[in-house]
Amino acid sequence: MKDNTNTSLAKETKNLLKKYDLKLKSSLGQNFLIDNNKRIQIIKFAELSKKDTVLEIGPGIGTLSLELAKHVSKLICIEQDKRVASILESRVEENHIDNIEIINDDALKVEFDKFNKVVSNLPYQISSPITFKLLEYPFDRAVLMYQKEFAQRMLSAVGDKNYSRLYVMLAFKVNTEFLMDVPKECFMPKPKVDSAVVKLIPNHKFNMENKEEKQLFEDYEKIAKALFQHKNKKSENALINSRHEIGYNDKKELKIKLEDIKNDKLNKLLNKRPINLSPEEILDLTRLLQELFKNKF
Ligand code: SAH
Repeated sequence: MKDNTNTSLAKETKNLLKKYDLKLKSSLGQNFLIDNNKRIQIIKFAELSKKDTVLEIGPGIGTLSLELAKHVSKLICIEQDKRVASILESRVEENHIDNIEIINDDALKVEFDKFNKVVSNLPYQISSPITFKLLEYPFDRAVLMYQKEFAQRMLSAVGDKNYSRLYVMLAFKVNTEFLMDVPKECFMPKPKVDSAVVKLIPNHKFNMENKEEKQLFEDYEKIAKALFQHKNKKSENALINSRHEIGYNDKKELKIKLEDIKNDKLNKLLNKRPINLSPEEILDLTRLLQELFKNKF
């Protein structure tokens, strides 16, 4: 038997857009999923149960939401576009769904209520800030769709051509896993780029409740930021050039202080280029530089 579900999801989306005369805004990354197989797979990857409270950022007209709601205790949808949110509201009512809460707001600006999973086809223009915001909350698992290029940077590792500050910033917070590619043909309207779905599981490597660990992690983030502004220079020069990130204005002062504390281990790290430093090495570097940055950050 021929499976017409895909054609029908595309058709359903087209009809809804027509019915509500919805003009899509590319500035809000409004590309709706029209591939039913991908929708089924995303839901499977989330391993949902009736105990789950799921957060969905940018639900659009509810392509994922209406299905997600069937498998969970509660779904919280945050949609910035007022017209889109009201279409979702109507669909929820028409389908007699009572476990979806719709919040019509900018996901970057609102506090999130308690949730234990996140499943979203994210609005691409907020990929980075929304990911970091999510990581400030405790959760069990996130299944997120990103632009492919962004996903590749998340999933890279030291030595890869996509090795990035993003990877370094995520390394001590979450374990990331590639789940599947989603070609641009799976969306309406068709975007310019392909997408990929990624799983994020918090790895609890840092205990942010502990004051010292929290401080160390914050210092690590600042050092990573400074290093990756000049990722092909020697790390020592990268730090000196981006000294404002680590609390120094005066180039000479930083150079003298670095000379003072140099030892074999520190020399070795400072001579490497940031693109060749693993997150563990950047953390070592942070530890070795602690004295230097005391009262500076
Ligand atoms: N998840 C849906 C829609 C994806 S399009 C699907 O797969 O079909 C992305 C959606 O995110 C759009 O509806 C857009 O209006 C919304 N959006 C964009 N920026 C947002 C923000 N900052 N906060 C909440 N929603 C946002």
